[in-house]
Amino acid sequence: MKIGVLALQGDVREHVGALTSGGASATAIRRPSELDEVDALVIPGGESTTMSKLAIEFGMLDPVRKRIAGGMPVYGSCAGMIMLADRVLDGRPDQQTFGGIDMTVRRNAFGRQVDSFEGEVGLTPFEEPFHAVFIRAPWVESVGQDVEALGRVTDGAAAGRIVAVRQGNLLATAFHPELTGDLRVHRYFVEMARAAVDG
Ligand code: GLN
Repeated sequence: MKIGVLALQGDVREHVGALTSGGASATAIRRPSELDEVDALVIPGGESTTMSKLAIEFGMLDPVRKRIAGGMPVYGSCAGMIMLADRVLDGRPDQQTFGGIDMTVRRNAFGRQVDSFEGEVGLTPFEEPFHAVFIRAPWVESVGQDVEALGRVTDGAAAGRIVAVRQGNLLATAFHPELTGDLRVHRYFVEMARAAVDG
């Protein structure tokens, strides 16, 4: 199984590293022909408005949407979460997403002044809490009935906010596990993708 990391913009290298350490074969991709070669996709953190623009420029918007509709496993972190959202609040008017997860996310939800913030998140697939790093992160404002909330902030002003979700083969986190060396989310995604690809 080959996992692509969408390399239009963002922390691509960190995701390739985390996936590789998690036992997967991962490679940076940015063109439709390269997308055809992979079984699953990771959308990194970065800036969703820029990613949206580059996705259109590189002709990736429709090809990724089609693969998502076809059941390709995708994991998005932070800006990647925004790219997987069906609806975005506080986005730019011309901002596009791939969509796929029936959720509304709010960009820069933790406050524009708060550049980054760290906190514990309880994630249902894991026993131990996850030390999460949020950088100008979105949160999930609301979800449709087919979306499973996998994690919420446990303390502080944002306590209770949903920051990790899954809908079928799509997984998204508002935080950046690729930056902390905790491989549990990437391992979880690799397992999820293997199960989907192997049928
Ligand atoms: N605020 C960014 C956006 O809207 C996301 C930040 C991130 O990915 N660290 O895309």
